[in-house]
Amino acid sequence: MMSDIEVARSVTMKPISEVASRLGIPDEALNNYGKHIAKVDNAYLATLADKPKGKLVLVTAITPTPAGEGKTTTTVGLGDALNRIGKRAAICLREPSLGPCFGVKGGAAGGGWAQVVPMEAINLHFTGDFHAITSAHNLLAAMIDNHIYWGNDLGIDTRRVAWRRAIDMNDRSLRQITSSLGGVSNGFAREDGFDITVASEVMAVFCLAKDYTDLEARLAKIVVAETRDRKPVTAGDIGAAPAMTVLLKDALAPNLVQTLEGNPAFVHGGPFANIAHGCNSVSATQAALRLADVVVTEAGFGADLGAEKFFDIKCRKAGLEPDAAVIVATIRALKMHGGIGKADLSKENVAAVEEGFANLARHIENVAKFGVPSVVCINKFVTDTDAEIETVIRLCKEQAGVDAVLCTHWADGSKGTEELARKVEAILDAPRATPFTTLYPDDMPLLKKVETIAKELYRASAVSADAKVRKQLADYEAAGFGHVPVCIAKTQSSFSADPNAKNAPTGHVLPIREVRLSAGAEFVIVICGDIMTMPGLPKVPSALHIRLDANGEIEGLS
Ligand code: ADP
Ligand code: MG
Repeated sequence: MMSDIEVARSVTMKPISEVASRLGIPDEALNNYGKHIAKVDNAYLATLADKPKGKLVLVTAITPTPAGEGKTTTTVGLGDALNRIGKRAAICLREPSLGPCFGVKGGAAGGGWAQVVPMEAINLHFTGDFHAITSAHNLLAAMIDNHIYWGNDLGIDTRRVAWRRAIDMNDRSLRQITSSLGGVSNGFAREDGFDITVASEVMAVFCLAKDYTDLEARLAKIVVAETRDRKPVTAGDIGAAPAMTVLLKDALAPNLVQTLEGNPAFVHGGPFANIAHGCNSVSATQAALRLADVVVTEAGFGADLGAEKFFDIKCRKAGLEPDAAVIVATIRALKMHGGIGKADLSKENVAAVEEGFANLARHIENVAKFGVPSVVCINKFVTDTDAEIETVIRLCKEQAGVDAVLCTHWADGSKGTEELARKVEAILDAPRATPFTTLYPDDMPLLKKVETIAKELYRASAVSADAKVRKQLADYEAAGFGHVPVCIAKTQSSFSADPNAKNAPTGHVLPIREVRLSAGAEFVIVICGDIMTMPGLPKVPSALHIRLDANGEIEGLS
């Protein structure tokens, strides 16, 4: 069997101008990065503001296994199949981070015959957006310490500098460090640390910004430290926002690439799906909606986290109205939810599939709470049996009232998702039964917002928060941040905060450990459990297998 990179390399790519012309983008609006990647000029995109928008389809998933259930792969497969049946469709994905690429998970450009290409470039430095975001982040960090060094006019309490450094790498040794060691000329020694770039608030801001003006205004609002009397100090107070915006100027233009079948794909921005909202940039999604009839996009993790944040944060803030959702399920994940251990996931077990269906059923119900119609994609793995697949299709129909479609895009490309594309087309063409709605209104108190998500979507009985957390939330409300959405950071492996509670747990308590304000991104992060903002590498990282072959081609990237 061919590896992802071998499949990717076996296909002849179209020149990017040809891909762009499918969307009517003129050559003058492209800034080319080689032959197969271009940034689409923001000035050109601004001229499209009055064009009618296409339909927006979200690809989300059931509670995943650590390997991922195939959202990216399905986004690509569905986009290709919609083009195959004659729609002008574009896809929108997040840019991969180097951390997982060299760590466990590998790249994030899809898989098999449903990939975006050139996959090596997309997975590695691409157009340098993440480097620009890292630089903007670290410019702010440098300016904070420089401000302190030259007299600290703002009275920053050096024990309360919240702004850490960033690097796009899994490197646990940087989680907690001491900076400014080495004497008087190096500043005031203090505790510091690094986050991975995708966890930076600059990344979240970048992905939610509508334009340069909005980007700069949001960057200025980022809270970076506190004074001795606990007053917030912002990036605006430091004077860093204009220069940070300059560093992000080119990056903010959406990146255009193609799928293996030569269809347009925007790959832009990549915030973490835990301490941020986990979707590609608003600028790319809006551009795609003006240029294509149908836009297929992905949100990180299962629907309890990814779809909820996509709807409640991204769509709310960007004024987007999603038209349909595709919920990706795999037989092996359903069996895992049905109680089967990792070693036995490839053996047929219809009873376990039936048991684990409760997880899928809840995600289907949850998506309906946003008024968004859905269809289930069964992403076929070679070990799946007919009996297992038929069980899922039957249960979806009987118990959840939705269609489930067997999809083989990983093995077959768009041929394998044609039926799914037709189902999606039927949903898009049908009159809308229920309007899109967010789960909670802006003016609900912050804790109540968390409770609403916990009870409605996670089926928790309650939320627990100690006095410190409650006071912090009340302080945010008093400071004028009560109207922002909440961004829940919890395990992706369960509806609850306990990664071992598989399937469809009820009656659990969602413990809020900590809350943080992302004033620039305009949400309050609600941390429920251990959240890693700087991952580590495993004992045998993918990096050990990535190399150049005798022809100077990259191998080992997956
Ligand atoms: P997600 O976006 O949900 O995290 P991905 O689409 O990135 O998931 O897929 C995760 C991994 O699983 C990728 O390496 C991909 O190549 C692989 N994969 C996806 N679908 C299949 C399939 N049907 N058969 C085998 N491998 C698959
Ligand atoms: Mg993905």
